[in-house]
Order: sequence, then structure tokens, then C-alpha cells
Amino acid sequence: MPKVIIVGAGLAGSLLAIYLAKRGIQVDIFEAREDMRKKAGPGGRSINLALSDRGIAALREIGMDEYMLARAVPMYGRMIHPVADEPKMLQYSGRKGEYINSVSRSGLNIALMNEAEKYRGVQFIFNARISGFDVASGEIEFESGRTIRGDTVIATDGAGSMIRQSMASQVSEFNVSSAFLEHGYKELHIPSEVSGRFRLEKNALHIWPRHKFMMIALPNMDRSFTCTLFLAHSSSTDLSFDRLSDAASVQAFFRNEFPDAVQLLPTLTEDFFSNATGQLGTIKCWPWGFGGKVLLLGDSAHAMVPFYGQGMNCAFEDIRVLDQLIEKHGDNWDTIYGEFGQLRKINTDAISDMAEENFFEMRDAVADPVFQRKRELETTLEQTYPDYFSKYSMVTFREDLPYSVAKECGNRQDRLLMSISAANEDLSVLDLNSVMESIRNLG
Ligand SMILES: Cc1cc2nc3c(=O)[nH]c(=O)nc-3n(C[C@H](O)[C@H](O)[C@H](O)COP(=O)(O)OP(=O)(O)OC[C@H]3O[C@@H](n4cnc5c(N)ncnc54)[C@H](O)[C@@H]3O)c2cc1C
Repeated sequence: MPKVIIVGAGLAGSLLAIYLAKRGIQVDIFEAREDMRKKAGPGGRSINLALSDRGIAALREIGMDEYMLARAVPMYGRMIHPVADEPKMLQYSGRKGEYINSVSRSGLNIALMNEAEKYRGVQFIFNARISGFDVASGEIEFESGRTIRGDTVIATDGAGSMIRQSMASQVSEFNVSSAFLEHGYKELHIPSEVSGRFRLEKNALHIWPRHKFMMIALPNMDRSFTCTLFLAHSSSTDLSFDRLSDAASVQAFFRNEFPDAVQLLPTLTEDFFSNATGQLGTIKCWPWGFGGKVLLLGDSAHAMVPFYGQGMNCAFEDIRVLDQLIEKHGDNWDTIYGEFGQLRKINTDAISDMAEENFFEMRDAVADPVFQRKRELETTLEQTYPDYFSKYSMVTFREDLPYSVAKECGNRQDRLLMSISAANEDLSVLDLNSVMESIRNLG
């Protein structure tokens, strides 16, 4: 029985272990952190993320989609919160059944680990930090000095991947680029009401777009919301994290910029100073594999900014594709990794680029009347024409469509629909059939 070593028991590593085990492959999965099942999260609070069709497709293949969706809060659209106006809902799709799902990150990770452990060949080893990797021999070194080797190594050790760093220093033609945003992020908490109710509309992803920065909130199963503030780390001219250095400046910033949210954040100051400020960036590298000895997968191969809600969904899609190649090539890892890279790189580059572009859409465009009209037009088109999909829908709800196709098609459509929406303040005068004809002509 072949033996695969997985480095990193995060979302991708834990799901991959299940897929491999289903094929009768023996898996040892090494994780730097302690077992999260033995430890409550920070303050016992939930950090969530949006699960959508590409990720659900992978969970379906291992029989866990229904389990996870029963523990998710559906989000049907973006609820836009202007500074001084009523919130407005923009639907994600005009079609029924097309929505995204807020799931607990640790809840999903734990469910995947529990499922993986049901297979005899799977072994999780916690508190085992990899400190180096020898690309030529496939030998892994731990912080403790111990070394091990398997038939092959799959690195799911995230954006800061140690395996990727080892490859970069040993493989002469290895290319890596990292582009960090000037914005960082901080998580904050909106608890449920004392009566146990949600304090905001529960079936929405809430956005407070403020051009140079923004805040979002996703609902949790315990009826709280996890908010994320995206703001520049530092700036000499604009508001930034380094200018919010005491309770008074934080409270004033939130009162001015998020007046309807500040009252919902009773532990704002405490959370603001106790929660770390995270970094955001895009990492691209190539090649992902080397001689059948090692493969980078998930964030270790293609970390992206979170503005399309696709990092995990894309990593799960990676695993589906890898599994199809194992079906085709058995344990010929060299061939599998080569084909995997050829199939996936063009698509992970596409979604990484779209994720960067979507930052501007979320913090600027969603507050723009022309963009709002375009979203309304897209929704109407989706309600009217079964073959019409907006760019957002192609990325989020079309597991059958490669990201690269969604990007190309979506950009062409976006340009056309933005110009129609800019030229027409009243969409009801439009001849929808001719709009649809123009879209079909785009190819
Ligand atoms: C703020 C934010 C919001 C996001 N929202 C979404 C969303 O809504 N939807 C979505 O699809 N994606 C989202 N993402 C992206 C998503 O979190 C990642 O794409 C996903 O976690 C990638 O999974 P992974 O398993 O590749 O990496 P990770 O989840 O980072 O897991 C890596 C694992 O490897 C372990 N590890 C690291 N180094 C070592 C080492 N040297 N030795 C052993 N183990 C090691 C780590 O401890 C960790 O457990 C978001 C990301 C951020 C930052």
C-alpha cells in the first residue's frame, strides 16, 4: 500500500487525507499545532468562512455535504450598510438555490479530521512542526531533529509553507512571487441578543464599504456574527491600524464610520486590542511538484486574498482534480503532479487575480449606484434566462466551469453590463432580449 505524507492538517490537508484513505492509500499527516479538538478557539468564539459550490462538490464526493450544510447559515446576498442610509440587500443570484454558506472554520476542520480518522490507514501527528525538506531524497526534517520519508509528500502547510521555502532554496528553476496588500485584517465579534436572536439580518453577508477600507460580517450558528475589518496597516494620510492606538481613537473611528454597527459590538475595544492584525497577500509559485517526491496544494501553492471567498473552495477543488488523476494514473506521482499543475495553475492564477480585483468591488463598487443597478440587471437576467450566469455566479455556483473561463467570460460581460447600467438609470425601459442577445454574442 503506498504511503503519503501530508504536511499540515488544516482544511486542505484534512480533506485530502479522506480522499487518499478512500483509495486505500496510507496517510501520515503531520501538524505543527496541537489537536484543535482538545482546545477551545480564542475566547470560544467562532471564526467563519464562506463555503460555496466548488467546496460543496468535494464534500459531496466524500459524503459530508449534508452534514456540513446542516451546520451552516445560508447567505442569500450582500447587505450593504451605507454610513447614513438604510441597509440594502443585493442578491447573489436571481436563481433559487444559489447562495453561499457561512460555516465555522474550526467546526469544518474538526469534522474533516474526525471523518479521516475513521479510516484505518490515517494517522494524525500533532505538535509536529516540519523545519525542512530535502527535495532530492524526499526526506522531511522536524524541529526535533527527527527525519522521515514516505513514498511522496503533499504539502498543505498553508500560505507560509515551509516545504515551499525548501523547494525555493533547492530547485534552481523554482519561481515564487508574493504580493502583500497594504491592508491587514482584524476579527471582531457581534454577540447574539440576550433573547438569543441575531442582531442583524441573518441570511446575508454584511458589508460596510468605505472606499479606503471596509468591514464585513458573517453569521454564525450560535446567532453571533464574526466581523472582519480590512484597513491599511499604516498611512500618513488616511485612517490606518497604526493610528488606532487607544480606546478613544478606536471608538471614535467606529462611531464615525460604522454608526449602525458600533452599538452591536459591546467588546469592541477589548477585541480590537487582543485580536492580532492579520496580513493579506497573493502568493504564486511554480513548479508545484518535483520528481514525484513532493506536491504543493492549497494555500501553499496559491495563497490568495479572501475577497472572493474562494481560497478554501479552490483548495477543495484542487483535491477533486488530484483525486481524478490518481484514478487515472495510480501511484505514478511524477505524472500525476505534472498533469495536476498543468490543469490547475491557469485556474488558480485566474481566481487569485479575481480575488484581488474583488477587493475594489467590495470596498468601492458595491456602494456605487451604477454597480448596484448592474447587480439588479444581472439578477433580473438570471431570473429570466436559465443560460445566463453573472461573473459572480460563474465563480461561485458553477463547479463545472474552470475559474479561467469564468474570469474571461465574466470580464467581457461585466464591461458590457456596466456600460448599459451607466447609460440607463431606469432599467425597466431595457429590452432584456436584446441585452441577452448582446451577451450571447460576446461568446
Ligand atoms: C480573513 C480570511 C478570510 C477567508 N475567508 C474565506 C472564505 O470565506 N472562503 C474560502 O473559501 N476561503 C477563505 N479564506 C481562505 C482560506 O482560509 C484558505 O484558503 C484555506 O484555509 C487554505 O487551506 P490550507 O489547508 O491550504 O491552509 P491552512 O488552512 O492555512 O492550513 C495549513 C496548516 O498547516 C499547518 N502548518 C503550517 N506550517 C507547518 C509546518 N511547518 N509543519 C507542520 N504543519 C504546519 C498549520 O498549522 C495549518 O494547520 C479566508 C482567508 C482569510 C485570511
